[in-house]
Amino acid sequence: LVARMRPFGTTIFAEMSALAVRTGAVNLGQGFPDTDGPPEMLAAAAAAIRDGANQYPPGPGTPGLRAAVAAHQRRFWGLDYDPDGEVLITAGATEAIAAAILALCEPGDEVVCFEPYYDSYAASIALAGAVRRPVTLHPTDDGRYGFDPAALRAAFGPRTRLVLLNSPHNPTGKVFTAAELGQVAELCQEHDAVALTDEVYEHLVFPDAAAPHIPLATLPGMRERTLRISSAGKTFSCTGWKIGWVSGPAPLVGATLRVKQFLTFAGGAPLQPAVAVALGLPDSYFTEFLAGQLQRRDRLVAGLREAGFEVLRPDGTYFVTAGIDALGGRDGIEFCRELPARCGVVAVPTQVFYDDVEAGRRIIRFAFCKRPEVLAEAVTRLHGLR
Ligand code: PMP
Ligand code: GLN
Repeated sequence: LVARMRPFGTTIFAEMSALAVRTGAVNLGQGFPDTDGPPEMLAAAAAAIRDGANQYPPGPGTPGLRAAVAAHQRRFWGLDYDPDGEVLITAGATEAIAAAILALCEPGDEVVCFEPYYDSYAASIALAGAVRRPVTLHPTDDGRYGFDPAALRAAFGPRTRLVLLNSPHNPTGKVFTAAELGQVAELCQEHDAVALTDEVYEHLVFPDAAAPHIPLATLPGMRERTLRISSAGKTFSCTGWKIGWVSGPAPLVGATLRVKQFLTFAGGAPLQPAVAVALGLPDSYFTEFLAGQLQRRDRLVAGLREAGFEVLRPDGTYFVTAGIDALGGRDGIEFCRELPARCGVVAVPTQVFYDDVEAGRRIIRFAFCKRPEVLAEAVTRLHGLR
């Protein structure tokens, strides 16, 4: 194995899901829903397979899906992208992130990101031979997460090439406010950096959040330097389909396509028309999806508090982070490895998503995108910790 990949072992998600299978624990670790997405989308995929959409689709994605992605962004965020040249379909957001980083970073270039960061960021940055410059998110007095603006400024320098921003943010559930996005935008422009925005949770911002979802690309001067990334997995409960997309100015999307051609070339032929159907569903789909996740959030947040965790209520995503201090937890990895034996529940430690391991050592993450009866069972089991 090449040196630059040696620090990366098995992903925490694979480890913890295997632990759940082995122990029969309720799996609130890896973030995937336990119900299927919209029936119209599922039917469209079945019909596409039956009707012969089973060979390579065009490398940049089917024209129908590219048009649907552009229409969706116009409809929800007022962003205009040309489906021919400014939209690219990828194998999930994961491939979009990897291809963009590989396309834009020379060895030694620096990528500013917030930590805890989604685990594929660090690996993709390493594969490119680039260097990550993490800015730590810390719990704040209002029960959310924030960062020190001076630390953000200090993370930028002459080698900064990219800023990788995930909002709504996994694992903290933070939704970046207009003021915070303004700081990021200003520094991007000052340092002539490109922004890669991971917005896979764009439809999962709760009504009581500190801010609505604001795509960074909508800020003045940012559209021309931002690659927006999203995917179908979260919004349409089809994480196994791995249909994602990138939108942005043609030169940046074209660079990403140049790399993507040789990673997977293309994928998901029958799934692409089905995701196009889903993106065009009426507003009621999106509001009901959010309302369902809000109920789940509130159920799990209450249950975790009853069980003795210090919960930071998330503004977005379907994850909640919880401090383990009050339960005597000293190390999240140890705590999560023991949790199935102690009470039959699986969670993931967040310290694996930090360079500053101490900042996350006693915070773990639960996913609440599960059926109400599954959450109820998990809460009953967690009560056993007291
Ligand atoms: N970014 C974030 C923040 C995620 O949580 C995930 C995982 N679900 C991804 C990217 C990957 O998305 P996909 O499954 O579409 O590759
Ligand atoms: N995004 C999901 C999570 O954060 C899992 C993705 C994965 O397993 N790679 O839990």
